[in-house]
Amino acid sequence: MVSSEIGLGDVRIVPIVTSRFRLDGGSMFGSVPKVLWERKAPADGSNRIVLNVNSLLVETGGQVVFIEAGMGSKFDSKQMEIYALSDRDAVAGLRKAGVSPEDVDIVILTHLHFDHAGGSTGLNESGDPVPVFPRARFIVQEEELRGAREPLPLAAGSYDLRDFEPLIESGLIETVDGDEEVAQGVFVERTGGHTKGHQVVRLLSGGEEALYLGDLVPTAAHLRLNWLMSWDLEPEVVYEERARILADAERRQVRVFFCHDPEVASSRINRHSPSSYELVESTVRKAVC
Ligand SMILES: [Zn+2]
Repeated sequence: MVSSEIGLGDVRIVPIVTSRFRLDGGSMFGSVPKVLWERKAPADGSNRIVLNVNSLLVETGGQVVFIEAGMGSKFDSKQMEIYALSDRDAVAGLRKAGVSPEDVDIVILTHLHFDHAGGSTGLNESGDPVPVFPRARFIVQEEELRGAREPLPLAAGSYDLRDFEPLIESGLIETVDGDEEVAQGVFVERTGGHTKGHQVVRLLSGGEEALYLGDLVPTAAHLRLNWLMSWDLEPEVVYEERARILADAERRQVRVFFCHDPEVASSRINRHSPSSYELVESTVRKAVC
């Protein structure tokens, strides 16, 4: 039993911090003035804020599902410094929860940006990228894979072919088109917005429900509908989907999981104003590092 673990009906959920890094704060909050976002996310001397990748281990129906692979370990020392990347990774986190990479049946990637898909592959002794989860089926939206392999100019810098081409070569990628149940009680739902093929993950068991938001709402600060990231390729779609999905999560008190929040792994939410939501403090589960 891991302390951060959450029961959802018959499903075991273990949040795992697979990466901890720093990224320019301005890029995480788009047009929001720094005087506002800095209250939520203090910046360092290089204007960077601390971010996690909070992945999820989900055990359901005899299957091991892993949501979001994190940044991985393929970075050189200069990149490690740029991102102030700590040396944690998905494999170490999973082992702590009693799971080895060979045990993972399904990996769900909300999208293929390097901070989400990077941990899917690692470098072998010759320095070539190879799959980290040798048996897993990787579930990605068809549109995401297409957009990652032939990215538009503004999207290209967010993808690294080494994160997913080895998966394609090994026949491990399984694309879906739209909404689908991919394991017992585990549903992917395409939202688009952040990328055209971005998806969120809904977990259902025993009448209980949880929702992994991916980069639709990366941190609790982004519970403000108009606090969009510079990385959002379709800002209006992010706004609309965020409004729709958060209103539903609030109404039915669904536990939501934040992919990049350095403090909060998950929480229930309440409406704070017509255009923002807030955490229900008594339900907050910390991101345990
Ligand atoms: Zn991200």
